[in-house]
Amino acid sequence: MSFAALGLPESITRGVRAVGYTSPTPIQREAIPIILPGHDLVAAAQTGSGKTAAFILPILSRLLDGPRALRALVLVPTRELAAQVEEAAMQYARYADLSVGAVFGGVPIPPQERMIMHEGVDVLIATPGRLLDLHGRHSVSLDEVEILVLDEADRMVDMGFAPDLQRILRLLPTRRQTLMFSATMPAELNAVAREALHNPRRLALAPSVARPAPAIAQAFYPVARHLKADLLHELLERSPDRTAIVFTRTKRGADRLYRVLQQRGHKTGVLHGDRSQSQRERALRDFKRGRVEVLVATDIASRGIDVDDVTHVINYDVPRSPDDYIHRIGRTGRMDATGDAFTLITPEDREEVAAIEKTLGRRIERIELDDFDYDRRRPADAHGRHEGHGRRQEGKSRGDHRHTHVEPDVDHGRPARTRGGSHGHVPPPGGHATPAADAHGRRPKRNATDRRSRRRM
Ligand code: AMP
Repeated sequence: MSFAALGLPESITRGVRAVGYTSPTPIQREAIPIILPGHDLVAAAQTGSGKTAAFILPILSRLLDGPRALRALVLVPTRELAAQVEEAAMQYARYADLSVGAVFGGVPIPPQERMIMHEGVDVLIATPGRLLDLHGRHSVSLDEVEILVLDEADRMVDMGFAPDLQRILRLLPTRRQTLMFSATMPAELNAVAREALHNPRRLALAPSVARPAPAIAQAFYPVARHLKADLLHELLERSPDRTAIVFTRTKRGADRLYRVLQQRGHKTGVLHGDRSQSQRERALRDFKRGRVEVLVATDIASRGIDVDDVTHVINYDVPRSPDDYIHRIGRTGRMDATGDAFTLITPEDREEVAAIEKTLGRRIERIELDDFDYDRRRPADAHGRHEGHGRRQEGKSRGDHRHTHVEPDVDHGRPARTRGGSHGHVPPPGGHATPAADAHGRRPKRNATDRRSRRRM
């Protein structure tokens, strides 16, 4: 099926062709015929499904005729997403006489005021807080808005924007078309949706949580907390051609990890809310251009990153919620690409790990790296116990990669400890026992051939 067959006009399909798309994605096929005639829509679209074009293309088409004014407003949770939607919309609109602009916090307000007041925009992409600031300064008029989009609406609610959204809804004309895209439907969003939408069509009736694309291979890597940076380094080392996003929970954690990875020779960048706008833009640009191979980021940054060919998402810290997990790993395997999603799990993460697996409806494979010393003590812990040693099983190799699988019945979050000194084990189906551990639970070193076996990661 072609874009023209969906009813999009020539000036828009030309823009789409210029970007290089040949046929619409499923969400585009479904949503465009609903949006073009003016219906309200609630759509549950997976990250990377092509949802931006699914709403921008019909919006541009609807705006082709009519007065020049701010007629379409797209609300997004983060400045990164605002910049990306703006960039995409500008490309699609390149053969249409329409202008697109974006406003978001963290940068000076006057240039944004000039853009809106003097240059004028037909489509404005905005984060809620900055839009309200601009409105409070009488720099933007929302009286002519005909189409409102709430993009990644669940994320906006997660980030505490629900009251701002409600305030914005009251500033908009009631006669308008409203489109809402959201991977999940938290209760708080229901209230916003009830107020915003009128008799909406629904697409892919939202499952309570979005499912990650099947092309993403997921694995959990149990490890003691003090060995996380070493294990991450090993995982990165064992992957020659990778572009990886590494997620941490906190901004300070991101900065710390960034420094560690740099010291160890990885081309690293960092992206989080405390970095200035120009630092964030530079990090993303360097990542897109391949100057940075490992981008350390916090969750806030996770939704907005639209970089093709991210081969790996690595959760250095387990995400707080299953939703965050799904959104983080959605950064890889975009469109039809494949990707790997690795999560380092420690004994402390047991609850979060259980929640993620419950949501996914399946258990994620645990993997241990061969030739990684899991038994190393914390430097100060001379008399402490060895962390994480004990019963390990060697399972099947995936392709030419060799790893050690932890038996399926161990606790979420770590390899089973040997209880009462026993080294007994129950081999998994088709598995082989690892070489026997010594008195300290250490396994013998492997030979050079083993060491060479690498997993593409
Ligand atoms: P989104 O889900 O909107 O973030 O889009 C994910 C990625 O898919 C972006 O990099 C888009 O450029 C790309 N994309 C969107 N629509 C198409 C299409 N019809 N064909 C190929 N790529 C697309």
